[in-house]
Amino acid sequence: MTDSFSRREFLGVSGAAVTALAVPVSVDTSAPAVHIPKAARPAAISSSNGLGAVARAMEAVMAGEDTLDAAVEGVKIQELDPTDMSVGYGGLPNEEGVVQLDASCMHGPSKRAGAVAALEGIKTPSEIARLVLKYTDHIMLVGEGAKRFALSYGYEEEDLMTPASRERWLRWRANRGAHDDWLDVEDDDPLGQRPTGTINLNVVNAAGDVSSITTTSGLAWKIPGRAGDSPIIGAGQYTDNAIGAAGSTGRGESNIMVCGAFLTVEFMRQGMAPTDACRATLQRVMALTEPRLLHPDGRPRFSLNFYAVNKAGDFGGAGLYPGRFAAHDGRDAAHHDLAYFYERQ
Ligand code: ASP
Repeated sequence: MTDSFSRREFLGVSGAAVTALAVPVSVDTSAPAVHIPKAARPAAISSSNGLGAVARAMEAVMAGEDTLDAAVEGVKIQELDPTDMSVGYGGLPNEEGVVQLDASCMHGPSKRAGAVAALEGIKTPSEIARLVLKYTDHIMLVGEGAKRFALSYGYEEEDLMTPASRERWLRWRANRGAHDDWLDVEDDDPLGQRPTGTINLNVVNAAGDVSSITTTSGLAWKIPGRAGDSPIIGAGQYTDNAIGAAGSTGRGESNIMVCGAFLTVEFMRQGMAPTDACRATLQRVMALTEPRLLHPDGRPRFSLNFYAVNKAGDFGGAGLYPGRFAAHDGRDAAHHDLAYFYERQ
C-alpha cells in the first residue's frame, strides 16, 4: 500500500461525490419525538440497592444541583460501601482476584457521555466516568489508561479488596474445580449461584433535565479484562434529554445484545410508559437468547432488570424474574415491585 494516497482516496469517494457532498443540503437532525407532558416531576429511580442513592440524589436535585452530579452523589454511597459486594470498594474481583470496575454516565442537557471499563484501584469509577464526559473528547477509557487518567486528577490507587470479598474469592478459587490443585474448602455459598449486582440510577429534575449512571464491579470471577454492559453507552444506561433515561442490572452480555437502555428509551419515544418500555426490551432479550441460556421449560437461566424514567417524571421497572427497584417520586423514597415474566422455581 502506498502512503501517498490523498485524503479523498482515503475517504473512498470520487471527485464528483465530493462536489455533490459540498452542496449544502437540509438534513433534519432531530430525533423523532413523542408528546409527553411539559411539566416534569423530579424523580430518581434505581436498582433495589439504591434506596439511599435515590434519597441522596433527590436531596441534591431539590437543592438545585445538576442531575448528573446528583446521580454521582447517589451511586457513590454504594461504591464506597464495603458491604456492597457488587460495586466499587469491596466489589467481588475477577478470576485472578483483581477488582475491575465498570461505569458509564450520560448528561441529557449537554448531550455528553463518559465511561470507564476494567478500571483497577479506584473506588469511585462513577466519578472517573464523569471526568471522561466533562474533560475529554472521548467516551470510554479502559484498563491501565483509565487508571492513569484517574491518577492524573489526583485520585489515589487503593486496594479495593476487603477481608470479606477476599474470603469469598478464595473460597470460590478453592472450590471451582474438582481436578485442580486447590483443595476444596467448606462453603455455605451454593455453587452455581454466581454473585452479580450493580447500581443504576436515573434522575430527572423539575425542569425535565435527565441524567443516568451505572456503576459495578461486574460479574464476579469474570475473565480478566471482561467489560460488561454497565460501561456501554446504550446498554448499561442511556439518556435522551427529550425523552428520558433507562438503565439495567443483571446479565450484561444479554443486555449488550439488544442495546437495552437505548432500546428502552426508544420504546418510550414511541409512546410507551416506562414499565411497558422495560417489558418490551426484555421481550427482545428473550427473542435473542441462545438455547444454552434457557432451562428446559424455556425460562432464562439468568436475571436481567431494566429501570426507566421519562422526562415527565413517570418511572417503572421490569425484570425477567420478580424483584424490586428503588425510587424517589419527589415526596419519599421507597421500594417498588418490578413487572416480571417468569416465576422463580
Ligand atoms: N450488569 C453487570 C455486568 O454484567 C452485572 C450485574 O448487574 O449483576 O457486569
